[in-house]
Amino acid sequence: MKEIILIKNGEIALKGLNRNSFEATLAKNIKRRLADVGKVNILCQQSTMTVEPAEDGFDMDEAIEIIKKVFGIAGFQRAAAVEKDMDVILATAPEYLADQLEEAKSFKVEAKRSDKRFPLTSPEISRNVGEAILRKHHHLKVDVHNPDITVTVEVRDSFAFIRGNQIRGAGGMPVGTGGKAAILISGGIDSPVAAWMMAKRGVTLDAIHFASPPFTSPQSEQKVHDLLSQVAKYSGNIALFTVPFTDIQQKIRANCPEDLFTLIMRRFMMRISNRIAQRNGCSALITGESIGQVASQTMPALACTDAVAEMPVFRPLIAMDKEEIIRISRKIETFDISIRPYEDCCTVFTPKHPRTRPKIEMLIESEKALDVDALVEEAVNGARLEIIR
Ligand code: ATP
Ligand code: MG
Repeated sequence: MKEIILIKNGEIALKGLNRNSFEATLAKNIKRRLADVGKVNILCQQSTMTVEPAEDGFDMDEAIEIIKKVFGIAGFQRAAAVEKDMDVILATAPEYLADQLEEAKSFKVEAKRSDKRFPLTSPEISRNVGEAILRKHHHLKVDVHNPDITVTVEVRDSFAFIRGNQIRGAGGMPVGTGGKAAILISGGIDSPVAAWMMAKRGVTLDAIHFASPPFTSPQSEQKVHDLLSQVAKYSGNIALFTVPFTDIQQKIRANCPEDLFTLIMRRFMMRISNRIAQRNGCSALITGESIGQVASQTMPALACTDAVAEMPVFRPLIAMDKEEIIRISRKIETFDISIRPYEDCCTVFTPKHPRTRPKIEMLIESEKALDVDALVEEAVNGARLEIIR
């Protein structure tokens, strides 16, 4: 028996004229993500996509785990594609859906017939399949209004498809339809969640990480890798730029007031990220900041950071509680990586009394002690690129 995956597009069904290009992007993403499992053919018809394995030995279970993490999919189902012969349909339906039917208490059958030459009408197909299921699964009751499982039999041009309930997809928009932005990624809980949320809206991700060896360890860089690998299961490949930051941090510490250390550092992060993002075709930066979480995330502090940004800075977590952020990080399986104990560059020289209501003039004045442009230039040139798959 041949098995396929039927995919129900998410919001992209609503996008009018753009629909074709959105669907093409989704189809391309699905093909690329399933490449390790095997080749597939994809057919788009009225906001439904049919994904059909084009190779023998295609592992359907593995494919389904991958499909669950592809953005732009509202729901999906695996379906049996069988010969358009009523005997075959009647033999297959109770067997193919046995697991789901065993768990259910009630069911109904819906038949659709796009091939009008098929000898039975839709109500006749439904009735026959219903009877065949009841003969095999005695505990079931028919409930046409609120069934635990709806068995759908669809007779199309070349095959009859048999399927059970729809499984929820990852939602959102296909990655690649929402532009490209760079996530400033630390090893913390927040930034991977911010990255995931933006990818969910169809944004292609680059990533920028500031490392301060020897104050930060190779393990903390490994942690960033592992976090991004996890995000990449949803977003697709991510280009990671690791920026040497030790020199800048030491110069700030030696030449600037301690209470402004964090903010001056964050302004450097923004300037450097701007440059890297611009060079790589990103039109925005993303951070995992949330109002009031720490001293550098008060509104006046964020304004001082934004003042040096030359592109929009998106902060998808801005109004979220830590608890809500943690809930998502558990769901996307970044939480356990984030809580590994290694130092981030931000925590290396944290001032004892950071300013929570900074004035931009104070920062501009303090930064005069540094050759900002040269430091930014050097850091940008020292950035190391890797592709996280
Ligand atoms: P997170 O859990 O994401 O580390 P946080 O609450 O610890 O967040 P901060 O350390 O103040 O907050 O960092 C705020 C944001 O700045 C992070 O969400 C991230 O986007 C960015 N950031 C912090 N440290 C780094 C770093 N070493 N490299 C790149 N970006 C960073
Ligand atoms: Mg952090």
